[in-house]
Amino acid sequence: MKTIALVAHDGKKQDLLDWVKTHADFFADKALYATGTTGSLLAATLGKSVHCFASGPLGGDQQIGALIAEQQVDWLVFFWDPLSSQPHDPDVKALIRLAVVWNIPVACNRATADFIVHSTLLQQDYQRDVPDFNLYQNRFKSKG
Ligand code: PGA
Repeated sequence: MKTIALVAHDGKKQDLLDWVKTHADFFADKALYATGTTGSLLAATLGKSVHCFASGPLGGDQQIGALIAEQQVDWLVFFWDPLSSQPHDPDVKALIRLAVVWNIPVACNRATADFIVHSTLLQQDYQRDVPDFNLYQNRFKSKG
């Protein structure tokens, strides 16, 4: 688990910052990707560089989704806000969907994030199953 993508909606940004602060050592040797505003807050909080994409509503969620589809993200921490509607709701759903499609762990709240940080699997060289979508991708190829 080396590359982590982090996204937090405005109503959850403080929650995410408080949580990463309590795990600063864990993040020290990880490569971090984030949507724009979340990323700049994380960089200031952790004192390390964070690769910042566009702000979520401006395409950042989709940029992170593309990285997931390219197998470049090991874990998604996505503190989405269940109590407010988002202008980019389709992107929010698409990001969660891609994490499920590609079988990467997703933490949508602090409790789940805590469980993952403390998982014994982190000490092992855990290889997640990467789904084989060849059959799906070739479903219209002619057999001849
Ligand atoms: P932000 O985007 O980090 O740029 O605020 C988060 C989001 O709403 O997806």
